[in-house]
Amino acid sequence: MKHQRLLEQIHQQVGELIGQGEVASYIPALARVDPDQFGFALCGVDGSEASVGSADTPFSIQSVSKVFSLSLALQLIGEQLWERIGREPSGDPFNSLVQLEHEHGKPRNPFINAGAIAVADRLVSHCVDAKRSLLEMVSGLLDSPVDYDYEVAASEAAHGSRNAATAHFMRSFGNLDNPVEVVLDVYFHQCALTLSCRQMARACAYLANGGVNPGTGGRVLTERQVRRINALMLTCGTYDVAGEFAFMIGLPCKSGVGGGIIATVPEQMSLCVWSPALGPSGNSLAGTKALELFAAEAGVSVF
Ligand code: GLN
Repeated sequence: MKHQRLLEQIHQQVGELIGQGEVASYIPALARVDPDQFGFALCGVDGSEASVGSADTPFSIQSVSKVFSLSLALQLIGEQLWERIGREPSGDPFNSLVQLEHEHGKPRNPFINAGAIAVADRLVSHCVDAKRSLLEMVSGLLDSPVDYDYEVAASEAAHGSRNAATAHFMRSFGNLDNPVEVVLDVYFHQCALTLSCRQMARACAYLANGGVNPGTGGRVLTERQVRRINALMLTCGTYDVAGEFAFMIGLPCKSGVGGGIIATVPEQMSLCVWSPALGPSGNSLAGTKALELFAAEAGVSVF
């Protein structure tokens, strides 16, 4: 109950920020989203929930999906994944190609686009149908079906030159085993997964609960794997402002250009906030402020 009141208070406090900033325009299907929306939901490891605003409105989760694809890849191949992908923050924008050349096509981490495309390549190699496996995995977390927004996926494919360049570049270094078109098709669809804040908070609760989904009781990952995903979210989850997020919020977070951000409060709860208008770093402006207020008011931090 106290969390419900806190979310309501925060909704009021961020009121003026909602709609400020710009919706992502480089994916035309996202440019049409109404910026004046805000939702915030939390899911406790004890199954308790609280939410405000448009917490039931589905949105394009974009890069937040990188947490699910990484989790699926860890389920399938475990430690071997790290032969292809690093674990260092990049300090560069999420779609930068600069470091890839210096580092011979091995992406810095699984949360920049290059890293997520390399993860998608692993999924293609280890699944009969990677798009379906990912849908099944996320649907399993919620115990109800989710789907891709096929229009967003097509829009992104039609304007995906930079991601295509990234993928070709990695393949030229031998760091993608599958054809670029096949890998990108998986990547664009995973970015086009559409869930609400309430669904996201539930689906990500395993990250706060030592790898066990509190809703279904099923183990998603080991405790150690989940600790590591949270470490990566903290250091690499919010593009090149992960340091600022750690400083201001102090929780592992993963953001997406659809305006969604998830955050983990280990052993307590999982949060998801969404507001489509983004600040200069590509993170939701109102969403970032809401998380900052929540962490301060609720007195939660990993530090
Ligand atoms: N689909 C987007 C892209 O590849 C995801 C980027 C993001 O959310 N940071 O550009």
